[in-house]
Amino acid sequence: MSEAGLPSSASVPATPKVYTQKMSCIFCEVVAGRVPAQKAYEDDTCLAFHDLHPQAPVHILVVPKRHITSLLDVGATEDALLGSLVRVARDLARQHKLDERGFRLVFNTGADAGYSVFHIHLHLLGGRLLGWPPG
Ligand code: ZN
Repeated sequence: MSEAGLPSSASVPATPKVYTQKMSCIFCEVVAGRVPAQKAYEDDTCLAFHDLHPQAPVHILVVPKRHITSLLDVGATEDALLGSLVRVARDLARQHKLDERGFRLVFNTGADAGYSVFHIHLHLLGGRLLGWPPG
């Protein structure tokens, strides 16, 4: 199972730097509606959907609709987009009644973090006690 909770058959090549929208990216396929997902929110710039293999009672991924391979590729022009991802995740946390007990937002990057779908995604996790430091 991948870090993003997708089956290994959905994994992508290990050298993602050359990605374009035309190459296979499972999250671009979800955004395009060619791969089904349980949507939690959608607007012009981002999509949120429930992780296929949730690691907490609430585990939602918030992704930009535009393909961005890694946080390492993000520049100042993406500040508003990243802010909206965080705000959407926060609003979803409220909708799922996580605002009282707490929740966690996580961007993974690189092999040590288990980053396995090379399209940035913000994890919203909550609904149980989340250990610290994370594993
Ligand atoms: Zn993508």
